[in-house]
Amino acid sequence: AAAREALARLVLDVPDFPEPGILFKDITPLLGDPAGFAAVIAALADVGRDGDGTVVVDKVVGMEARGFILAAPVALALGVGFVPVRKVGRLPRATHAVSYALEYAVATLEVHQDGIAPGERVLLVDDVLATGGTLQATVDLVEACGGTATAAAMLMELSFLPGRQAIGDLPLTALMTV
Ligand code: 5GP
Repeated sequence: AAAREALARLVLDVPDFPEPGILFKDITPLLGDPAGFAAVIAALADVGRDGDGTVVVDKVVGMEARGFILAAPVALALGVGFVPVRKVGRLPRATHAVSYALEYAVATLEVHQDGIAPGERVLLVDDVLATGGTLQATVDLVEACGGTATAAAMLMELSFLPGRQAIGDLPLTALMTV
């Protein structure tokens, strides 16, 4: 409840950013509010626990760049490691790479090959689910390492886009649907 209240009050709609026709969800006021930020981190971390409060994931993955801000404190809250998924060319050692289609371009994401060990259960954390392309590419990267993406936790799901259909069976928790 505290997390939902914070999201409703502290995520701002910005019209025509980054291009005309896009209504951008700006989470920076939420990040700047310590009570609101803490509430959403606690709610996202709960996705990595079962009904008894047992932690059921081995790693938390965050996607560059806003995913990093959320996934790192979620990992600390759960007592598991954080793994960055980055845009191509940023990680210094051996990577797996996955490319996916954007509207007019192709994006490539990478993860370190040793970031996730075979058999590990992985929670994926990002701010916004839009088309689902970023999330599905991240699932593919986890699987390339031999891990399993067991759940995704997002602040917001844009329900007018087909993000949920794009990710198949992956259990997805969004704190807010818009
Ligand atoms: P998708 O791959 O699902 O189309 O887009 C999701 C990615 O784009 C996420 O990493 C998210 O950070 C970013 N994104 C898309 N739309 C928005 C938005 O309105 N606000 C924010 N903060 N991020 C967005």
